[in-house]
Amino acid sequence: MNFDLTPEQDQLRDAVRALGRRYGHSYFVEKAKSGGHTTELWDEAGRLGYLGVNVPTEYGGGGGGLTELAIVCEELAAAGCPLLLLVVSPAIAATVINRHGTEEQRKRFLPGFADGSLKVVFAITEPEAGSNFHRLGTVARRDGDDWLLSGRKCYISGVDEAQYVLVVARTEDATTGKLKPALFVVPTDAAGLTRSRLDMEIVSPENQFLLYLDDVRLPADALVGGSLDAGLPALFAGLNPERITVAAMGVGTGRYAIERATDYTATRRVWGGRSIGAHQGVAHPLAHAAVQVELARLMIHKAATLYDAGRDLEAGVCGNMAKYAAGEAAALAVDTAVQALGGAGMTTEYGVATLLGAVRAGRIAPVSREMILNFVAQHVLGQEKSY
Ligand SMILES: Cc1cc2nc3c(=O)[nH]c(=O)nc-3n(C[C@H](O)[C@H](O)[C@H](O)COP(=O)(O)OP(=O)(O)OC[C@H]3O[C@@H](n4cnc5c(N)ncnc54)[C@H](O)[C@@H]3O)c2cc1C
Repeated sequence: MNFDLTPEQDQLRDAVRALGRRYGHSYFVEKAKSGGHTTELWDEAGRLGYLGVNVPTEYGGGGGGLTELAIVCEELAAAGCPLLLLVVSPAIAATVINRHGTEEQRKRFLPGFADGSLKVVFAITEPEAGSNFHRLGTVARRDGDDWLLSGRKCYISGVDEAQYVLVVARTEDATTGKLKPALFVVPTDAAGLTRSRLDMEIVSPENQFLLYLDDVRLPADALVGGSLDAGLPALFAGLNPERITVAAMGVGTGRYAIERATDYTATRRVWGGRSIGAHQGVAHPLAHAAVQVELARLMIHKAATLYDAGRDLEAGVCGNMAKYAAGEAAALAVDTAVQALGGAGMTTEYGVATLLGAVRAGRIAPVSREMILNFVAQHVLGQEKSY
């Protein structure tokens, strides 16, 4: 058993931390409130190779694994810059294309993931289906060699910043009559693809959208893996990276909030000589949150290590547990930090309440806490499926 990062991973952690701190939470909030995007941070992280750490070297990436990508997600969040697009583009989309794309698709897309110049977002959620992906209504139909996609997606993050969206659709299997998922790489400016931005109560430069696909025509090579049999494994390939990196973002956000709060409580004195942090009513909730964050961090480390060792099934259990634990810990840490800061906690200046919406959403998306509990009950505890 080894809890140490390699020297290279340690260096990566220090370097990403330094980059994140140069931008910081005020940069993130300023972009969010002005309707901008964190383009400078993204581009610099891309140039430095941090966004492509998990892309194989033959396509220009760092040749690392999910452990490295989780480090990038955690450290940027710990600097106050929780970038959701790290989860959808390098974690989900790059993994899906790397593991299940055709060689032509890998050559076409992976170099852009490697240097961060390519953003591909991910669209699975639909208004009618919600958590029940078996009800997906977006349909892909053959038209000669082309595909035609029609349907609706909701809450899709970052469509305005991305060149492509990886759309999960369903096709009718002619021989069995069963429905199969299929993944398509769709240009965000494709004819027939329209979007409208959702108003969300989250302070973030990254936006969510409703997507409408109205007979979007795609060439045959837009189908990930080039075959309908690639759809299901491709969809599953994105799940572990998604859960592990979103958990890392949650842990980073929790660390950030606790650091803001403890800096404050260690120096604020309203009862004479002692800091408010000397009062256990202030310190214990922060210490409790720190324990929860560290526990979640350990589980992320385990999940990423298993994933990088090719042990996908065990990584799935640990990744789900890590996501659950990190979602709860991040929400607890931010709420506790706000309380410890008193009135300052609710100001924009102290930069903690700005994260309340994001950590609340982290208990719902990309997979809700209830769906993770369903997974654990069924696959770990051997209970009957309830749905
Ligand atoms: C900020 C944000 C960003 C997002 N970005 C993306 C994105 O980029 N791409 C994308 O495809 N989607 C995205 N989503 C969508 C997200 O994945 C879904 O919101 C999430 O999967 C839950 O689906 P739903 O909202 O339809 O909830 P519903 O399925 O309607 O569920 C509502 C509530 O009921 C609970 N519930 C449902 N079924 C069960 C059950 N069987 N047992 C117990 N409880 C149950 C849920 O846990 C939830 O609490 C995003 C959402 C948010 C908030």
